[in-house]
Amino acid sequence: MAFKSLYVHWPFCLRRCNYCDFLSHTYSEVKAQATAYPQALQQEMRMYRAYADELVSIYFGGGTPTVLPAKALVETLDFIRQTFAVREDAEITVECNPATADEAYLRQLRQAGFNRLSLGAQSFQDAELRRLGRAHNAAAIEQAVADARAAGFENLSLDLMYALPGQTLADLQYNLQAALRLKPEHISLYSLQLDNDSPWGRQYAKGLLSAAEEDLETDMLLYSWQQLREQGYAQYEIANFALKGQHDFRSRHNRLYWQREDYLGVGLGAASCLFLQRWQNCGNLDDYLHNLQQMHRPPVEEEELTMAQCMSEVMFMGLRQAAGVDIYPVISRFRVDPLRFYANELPPLYAAGLLEYSADAHSLRLTPKGMLLANQVFLAFIKDDIEDIQYRPSAPPEDIEI
Ligand code: SF4
Repeated sequence: MAFKSLYVHWPFCLRRCNYCDFLSHTYSEVKAQATAYPQALQQEMRMYRAYADELVSIYFGGGTPTVLPAKALVETLDFIRQTFAVREDAEITVECNPATADEAYLRQLRQAGFNRLSLGAQSFQDAELRRLGRAHNAAAIEQAVADARAAGFENLSLDLMYALPGQTLADLQYNLQAALRLKPEHISLYSLQLDNDSPWGRQYAKGLLSAAEEDLETDMLLYSWQQLREQGYAQYEIANFALKGQHDFRSRHNRLYWQREDYLGVGLGAASCLFLQRWQNCGNLDDYLHNLQQMHRPPVEEEELTMAQCMSEVMFMGLRQAAGVDIYPVISRFRVDPLRFYANELPPLYAAGLLEYSADAHSLRLTPKGMLLANQVFLAFIKDDIEDIQYRPSAPPEDIEI
């Protein structure tokens, strides 16, 4: 096994949003470290060269990668090409905050080989954007889309949030219609999470902020799914929609993740998964930089997974996709039939109308009702009290020694 998907984390933002608990720093406060950061990334990537397959997906995420000078991103991508084999048609994504990039900036990225731009729009209403603490307004999103098109990006994704405190169905309808008018090739639609370590998460824990009512959230989802379908978008995952047409605009990066393929994540706090080993880099920026300047692997938290854990992840992550989980590859991967392995868990899910098995497609998939109650379904696939699967593939990689 070897990774063919590379994630590069850029932990810097113009400013911190009120709902965010991602690992990121305000750029202006850590400029010196941010300047040293690309070198550290390169050093870290060198350490994993031997474990790389030909890369089919490269993803620059954050944080806000585009808060850095374009040169830093371009040079990092050049380094990746020199260090790893990169397939000619690799998907190369960069996340962008609309306030951080103009046409000239985006043109540099496009010319360097980035071919997919993921714009964090979140809302098209200035009042909502201010409450969220976003660094941009609605006009900046429209400008960023125009700039991206002028710069040559033909694969554009917009992130939208719903279920914001105080948000009405009409607000969501307004945001979605505004997004659709921009004709992005891809839309991600995520509900606001308040159970985290963010300013809003802490207010929520103290009862100072209310989450959206469950019924309203459901109405928002049903409205969005229908609108997106009518506008020609295929829902290929619970929260992700790709424009149907000649090209496949589904996110390859995300699909590899949901199919639980191996991936390498580099950068502050980045997670990686290679065969049965999973690890996460330290979250302290100075420690991260210092270790790599000394040619040491940054401190990591590691976990050795059992085959049973791995299979349960294959199941519940795979079920996020509309196509569901094709059970034949699972059988050949684990030498276990998931229909038998989960023989006690599946019937109640079928009976509740949450899950269905298609014998023709030999796949298990969520029903529309299951998509609404997906977390409830996923819990059934997490079995801690079971013996591990005995089968081991013939040549697992050695433990990673740097
Ligand atoms: S721009 Fe994104 S990563 Fe940065 S603080 Fe806001 S939500 Fe978090």
